[in-house]
Amino acid sequence: MATTSCDVAIVGAGLGGCFLALLLGRRGHHVVVIEQGPSIPSAGADFLKPPALRVLARHGLADLTGRHGLRRDVIRYYHDGDPIQEARYPEGGFVIRPYHELVELIYASCAMQGVEFWFDADLDDIATRDGRVEELTLADGRRLHAGVVIGADGSKSAVRQALGIEQCVMPYERLLMRVATVPLSASVAQLNRLYFSSEGWLAYFYPINRDQARVFVGLPPEDDKEIFQDGIPALLDELKKFVTDSSDVFNALQLATWQRIKVSSLRVSAYHQGNAALLGSAAFACHPMTGMGMSYTLHDAEILADVITTAGGDGELLDRLLYARYEPRRHAHRELIDYGDSLVAAFSDRDAYLAAFRPDLHVHGTPAETAPHLV
Ligand SMILES: Cc1cc2nc3c(=O)[nH]c(=O)nc-3n(C[C@H](O)[C@H](O)[C@H](O)COP(=O)(O)OP(=O)(O)OC[C@H]3O[C@@H](n4cnc5c(N)ncnc54)[C@H](O)[C@@H]3O)c2cc1C
Repeated sequence: MATTSCDVAIVGAGLGGCFLALLLGRRGHHVVVIEQGPSIPSAGADFLKPPALRVLARHGLADLTGRHGLRRDVIRYYHDGDPIQEARYPEGGFVIRPYHELVELIYASCAMQGVEFWFDADLDDIATRDGRVEELTLADGRRLHAGVVIGADGSKSAVRQALGIEQCVMPYERLLMRVATVPLSASVAQLNRLYFSSEGWLAYFYPINRDQARVFVGLPPEDDKEIFQDGIPALLDELKKFVTDSSDVFNALQLATWQRIKVSSLRVSAYHQGNAALLGSAAFACHPMTGMGMSYTLHDAEILADVITTAGGDGELLDRLLYARYEPRRHAHRELIDYGDSLVAAFSDRDAYLAAFRPDLHVHGTPAETAPHLV
């Protein structure tokens, strides 16, 4: 079968892969995105915090959130039923927009830039030589030769494995997460409320559109076995102990379908090697309590697009620029991952949680300019 040549091959059509493809397509690069699924991912994050909104606005994409997204500017936190603090988001707040809808819009914009998407693409081999990716081969025999290869292929990244980059995955074993979508109630429409309990539970309620709300429940593993085997009445009994101002959601929870979500942190030893780099969940993962994963991923894609464009096909320059401009992002990511870990460790203790809470990271994110550089 024929070999296709392109400037940049991106493995993974999630937020990171699609956004980078759009930026590179706009700059005239020939980009091919390889996605193992039949389309862009169907589920994922909901919150676009201010740093993500700023990145999208810088690229003329404010509309992706402005017209259709739901804007909020406060999250109220509770501990054992009592309000303990409000996180306030100034200057336009944050946006709630289901992941699939957001990625779909970026994907649609890619088509106008001539980006090629290969869906249902089963990656069979990633050939490397002298620390560079030479060629990608699909199970159906198609081959792809690219000047630059980006692993935007999620936490189990095949590109990362092919590059031999070490990873450290730490599941949040003491806090199992369940999610359900339920009809919107008045309390959820009014305010985002996040409840913690000293028994190690959490419950988060927020709207995702005019009709529906998302409910996240986090709980210790031993409780998960009991509660979700015994059914919903037992869940409600537990929630009633610490969820005070959202009781109008309780009836809907009886009929909800609960999905279990695996959450782990991920750290890796390097973000690039030769002509290949990792992006998004292939490079780092923090606890979703920070709400910042997409913000950092979008900014990382911006940096990668600049680096790839500046290198202009010069392999040595690309390697140097990735080292100087992209690798330092590990500092900002590490800080975010540590922050997520500290929130998870502290949330059952009111005072410890308030002490761990960092408005600079939670609301604004770490400005890249203040992140220390490796060189
Ligand atoms: C429960 C949860 C809630 C979160 N909530 C938020 C939030 O509210 N706000 C926020 O900012 N961040 C949040 N995050 C983080 C956010 O989801 C990530 O930062 C973001 O999705 C990263 O995008 P991505 O493109 O790397 O990953 P993904 O969306 O995972 O995309 C990876 C893509 O690669 C594809 N792929 C994988 N392997 C291959 C292969 N071998 N070949 C081809 N394709 C492949 C997958 O099918 C997928 O389409 C949350 C994370 C979790 C787990």
